[in-house]
Amino acid sequence: MRYSQYFLPTLKETPGDAEVVSHQLMARAGMIRKVAAGVYDYLPYGLRAIRKVENIVREEMNRAGAIELLMPAVNPADLWQQSGRWQEYGKELLRFKDSKETDFCIGPTHEEVVTEIVRGTVNSYRQLPLNLYQIQTKFRDEIRPRFGLMRGREFIMKDAYSFDVDDAGADVSYKKMYDAYRRIFERCGLKFRAVEADSGAIGGSFSHEFMVLAETGEDAIVSCNCCDYAANVEKAELRAPNGEAPAPAMELGKVATPNLKSIEDVAAFLNENPQKMVKTLMLQNEREENVAVLLRGDHKLNEVKLCNFLDCNHLQMADEALVRKLTGAPSGFSGPIGLTCRVLADQELAIMSDFGLGANEENFHLTGANHGRDFQVEAFVDLREAMAGDPCPRCEGQLESWRGIEVGHVFKLGTKYSDKMHATVLDDQGKERILIMGCYGIGIGRTAAAAIEQNHDENGIIWPMPLAPFQVIVTLLNPNDETVMGAGEALYDQLVAEGLEVLLDDRDERPGSKFKDAELLGIPLRVTVGARGLKEQSFELQDRQTGEKSMLPVDGAAATIATQVRAALFASLGG
Ligand code: ATP
Ligand code: MG
Repeated sequence: MRYSQYFLPTLKETPGDAEVVSHQLMARAGMIRKVAAGVYDYLPYGLRAIRKVENIVREEMNRAGAIELLMPAVNPADLWQQSGRWQEYGKELLRFKDSKETDFCIGPTHEEVVTEIVRGTVNSYRQLPLNLYQIQTKFRDEIRPRFGLMRGREFIMKDAYSFDVDDAGADVSYKKMYDAYRRIFERCGLKFRAVEADSGAIGGSFSHEFMVLAETGEDAIVSCNCCDYAANVEKAELRAPNGEAPAPAMELGKVATPNLKSIEDVAAFLNENPQKMVKTLMLQNEREENVAVLLRGDHKLNEVKLCNFLDCNHLQMADEALVRKLTGAPSGFSGPIGLTCRVLADQELAIMSDFGLGANEENFHLTGANHGRDFQVEAFVDLREAMAGDPCPRCEGQLESWRGIEVGHVFKLGTKYSDKMHATVLDDQGKERILIMGCYGIGIGRTAAAAIEQNHDENGIIWPMPLAPFQVIVTLLNPNDETVMGAGEALYDQLVAEGLEVLLDDRDERPGSKFKDAELLGIPLRVTVGARGLKEQSFELQDRQTGEKSMLPVDGAAATIATQVRAALFASLGG
């Protein structure tokens, strides 16, 4: 591709709404352009990177035995009513009516459509296992679209769905996808971890998320420093603490804490460690059930665990009016004593005694409180978020914490959809069986963005070879010099003949600005062609990642470069 004839609108300025580096660089490198909030054009250079990710995904899905098809973006409401999700799915589902006033939605995921296909075409266990996948545009009306392709509203996803006649078969299908995902992200050159994830209220199912490690990641994950345990904090279990609470040694006392509402402020005022305090959170779920949750002062509530315990989907903090109604005091002074709503305690409280907490009275806290003596709790449950330093739930190690970008998700669904939609087959005994399903997603654009989060410097992107839109850029220092142009074109032709993807920078621009663009674009290898070098029959080769430069004899230059590119691609295939 000749740069002068390509469409590569790079930007000097970073768009004001680009908060994370991948979004900034994708916009500046002319990869994407915003059309509406969370809706982007994929410009030619960006599309090349997207296609690279897609191709790796496609190859590995095919290798794992999955079969590609393409389902429509537009889904009839009828199918979504059959699964019950027309009602359950919140605002993220974009619904609309056609000219005949029939309800439709744009698919945010395709369990319904694929289950309908299999229901209508597969009737014997002999046709299983089956894994169908597509690479397709999704729409989710995200509340906060941001970070460019990382959290768009319209985005490209690879979604696969497996169907098995029994649980054991479904586990094999799941494992195949898990392994394929590992290969995919290794081939993309990413540093990632597969972590245990929450699988919501569907009993007996399990799920893993593939997390690219990055500071800007929206997810918090923990992993053990000894064994291979790793989990999303939403899911990370914690062991019940050892031992029991020491016998109460203090009387219950009341202290004035004027205007001190946060646990840190109260602890500091009482000259206590927040670990000796208990905080009381007042929450309400979608069934309008109220619950008070007690946590050690320095701990954070894990809402997913609480939802799972209460068997509900949503929780919100009680508003000021509700807090007053339930506790008789403004927020900031809540405590469990005298409450009539449900009171749950995190399991850590089971070993605490003589602690401080809110008095349910404005500007007052209590000291020397003890459960059992001063108030009762319904249950001690694992309700808090894991944090660095916590003991590993599997071994004697300690947890470390990370931030991650969820690029893929594998999920054993069980019969959630097949049951509601009556997708069954006859087994080898001629008995009707409900299909066991799995679903497996990869965000294509998010994966490309995550690769940039992990691979960049102050000058621009540093593409891992397997994802690079072009593998080599040939920069002509002076394209008006015929010898330079001639040598550059000859090299370009040879590289293309070697099967490489090459950008020939033949623009009539200052060398400095061409070098700047090359760095911004992040093409792994740059060959500079100039009159001075040519006098000595050589080009200059620069590695974008290491910055190392070397002289490259004109003779055999293309073969040397091709060998380097192939070696990098081969290395990405792993051992
Ligand atoms: P998140 O928690 O980040 O919203 P999710 O759990 O909703 O993700 P899934 O429904 O499992 O995501 O979708 C599969 C994959 O699709 C995700 O792992 C992610 O890579 C990608 N994805 C999901 N939502 C978006 C989005 N809004 N923009 C870009 N990619 C997305
Ligand atoms: Mg989501």
